[in-house]
Amino acid sequence: MAGATLLHSSPYTLSSFVARRFSLQPGSYSRFHRFTSTSCRLSHSLRRNKPPRLAVLAQARRGFSSKFSSDEFASPDDLYIQEPLKIVEYPDPVLRAKNKMIGTFDENLKKLADEMFDVMYRTDGVGLSAPQVGKNVQVMVFNPVGVRGEGKEIVLVNPRVTRYSQKVLPYNEGCLSFPQIYADVERPDSVKVDAQDINGATFTVRFTRFPARVFQHEYDHLQGILFFDRMSDKVLDSIRKDLEALEKKYEDRIGLPSPEKINTRKSSPAAIGFGNS
Ligand SMILES: [Zn+2]
Repeated sequence: MAGATLLHSSPYTLSSFVARRFSLQPGSYSRFHRFTSTSCRLSHSLRRNKPPRLAVLAQARRGFSSKFSSDEFASPDDLYIQEPLKIVEYPDPVLRAKNKMIGTFDENLKKLADEMFDVMYRTDGVGLSAPQVGKNVQVMVFNPVGVRGEGKEIVLVNPRVTRYSQKVLPYNEGCLSFPQIYADVERPDSVKVDAQDINGATFTVRFTRFPARVFQHEYDHLQGILFFDRMSDKVLDSIRKDLEALEKKYEDRIGLPSPEKINTRKSSPAAIGFGNS
């Protein structure tokens, strides 16, 4: 996730970083207020589609290993890095591909995480998922402060959301796979997560406010969901031309039609929540 403009006056301590690195855009507050009236209706309608929380919990409690076959786990080749990692931009199909579970916690995994942090800091990001550097595996790294040596570096392997708040907030988000594109995305204010660390140890963590935002953005990448999938049509219209420009850039570079086109997107955004994770 790219650093984004903070729309809320927040007591959260990381807001100082956001304000420092990404100054408020002119008109942000008026845009936020206009968006709020529609977003309230949106969140109510989306909540009706959300699966019962118990179903999400039951799914999570089945555990990491028993419900996956061996071909769903990454091989050493899936993790091997041949050349310096680069950010994959929309609409590269690697961003929509299935991301394999990690079953082996070795030096290849540590090297991947290290290099992902390098790319993230180099590109002024605050979070990065493995598919964004061309690796279709369940690994994300983030540091909500976005500066090496400051804040806390977090690596989550095979993460699963087990709870999320009913309270949702809009936020002006960016994504390293969509350079210079920012728009409002609604997400739950807090999430509880089961994951494994870089050594394979399982742990549970609860994220709130900005770290919860960064986590959810990267978690979506691991499910093949991109941030514009969660935007209302009204918000999407504000970046439609930018997405088309990325599609054209991809077609010019690859010489093939874009694998997806924003103008053929289904009319409703992805539902808020994690029922399909
Ligand atoms: Zn992203």
